[in-house]
Amino acid sequence: MNIPFNKPYLTGAETTYINDAVKNGHISGNGTYTQRCQVFFEEHFGVQKCLLTTSCTDALEMAALLFDIKPGDEVIMPSYTFVSTALAFDRQGAKVVFADCRPDYPVIDENAIEALITPNTKAIVVVHYAGIACNMEAITALAAKYGLWLAEDAAMAIGSTYKLADGSQKALGTFGHLACFSFHETKNIQCGEGGLLVINHEAFVQRAEILWEKGTNRAAFKRGESHSYGWLDTGSSFLPSDMTAAFLFAQTQHAGQIIQRRLQIWHLYHSLLEEAETNGFITRPYVPEYANHNGHTYYILCSSKSIRDSLIAYLNAAGVNAVFHYLPLHQSAYYRAKFSVAELPNTLHFSENLLRLPLYYELDESQLKSICTLVNEFFKMAGLISGF
Ligand SMILES: *Cc1c(COP(=O)(O)O)cnc(C)c1O
Repeated sequence: MNIPFNKPYLTGAETTYINDAVKNGHISGNGTYTQRCQVFFEEHFGVQKCLLTTSCTDALEMAALLFDIKPGDEVIMPSYTFVSTALAFDRQGAKVVFADCRPDYPVIDENAIEALITPNTKAIVVVHYAGIACNMEAITALAAKYGLWLAEDAAMAIGSTYKLADGSQKALGTFGHLACFSFHETKNIQCGEGGLLVINHEAFVQRAEILWEKGTNRAAFKRGESHSYGWLDTGSSFLPSDMTAAFLFAQTQHAGQIIQRRLQIWHLYHSLLEEAETNGFITRPYVPEYANHNGHTYYILCSSKSIRDSLIAYLNAAGVNAVFHYLPLHQSAYYRAKFSVAELPNTLHFSENLLRLPLYYELDESQLKSICTLVNEFFKMAGLISGF
């Protein structure tokens, strides 16, 4: 068997659109395909402005600039996340303050946030791990109560929604003042390296475009709103080339189909691993009532780190590339050298026990069954040998 952890899905139209972009003669940033993608996402999210970026990391950096994060400011976020979530705010001189996870699924515990708020707190950043929503009603209420900026690291969450109290569905990425998505090749829709900034706060729209285009008003100039363009603000070159956007545009056209397929795979794992949970060997993902996810990740929780690591080794030896997630940021060498560390027991729990199984569009049913058979065999064998 040779089952990778991820295999980027190609719709087949990527090269067609790239060829078209090349023929158009405009392959630098903010060209036809960038516009097409941005319009697609603006309609999808129902917002006035979306900007393509070269990564989710870039979108997070733009968020830190738009929130005007300065040395002395504090930003509350989970420790259980990818480095980029913290890096973007740390770069602006903020003190990143880590909150623990909920006990039942690995996202920021909405009840752990308020105790961390100080007069220096400027923003909250949430991460929808595995595309499964945080408790956004509680968190938006808290941000409003203390007048804090709210950003969503929605890197994994394209197509996920949140069920509001009145029963309606609201897209993840439309709760925060800003939201950041990733189109890295490991994400549901992808262009190799790419990202998106969703701007839900109208006052940020104009400045966001300036930061995006090297601190200039070039985007407005391009629309004919100004006779020339010049240096107005800080910024960087956050925009991708139009070839990248052309690739991504092909993916946006198939986003619904890709998410449907990933959800099928997710649910098949969930049913085939039910028995292992009933037997007390693993815990399957908990999805709260309010979260409608996008099948981004299927994970299981083992009962100890040593069992988790043995299971990864067992699956890897059989040609199945299972992986763990994340090394908590509060324990990283970089963070510990700068700040004292709090104890975050739920974060450690997920970091030590969580195992991610392969999940990609082309994973077929027989491969998936073989993976689940291996997991079940491992626990039968382990049960016989050591009695755990
Ligand atoms: C993938 C990911 C990122 C980084 O995305 P890039 O596009 O590679 O910069 C950031 N945060 C989370 C939660 C992610 O899963």
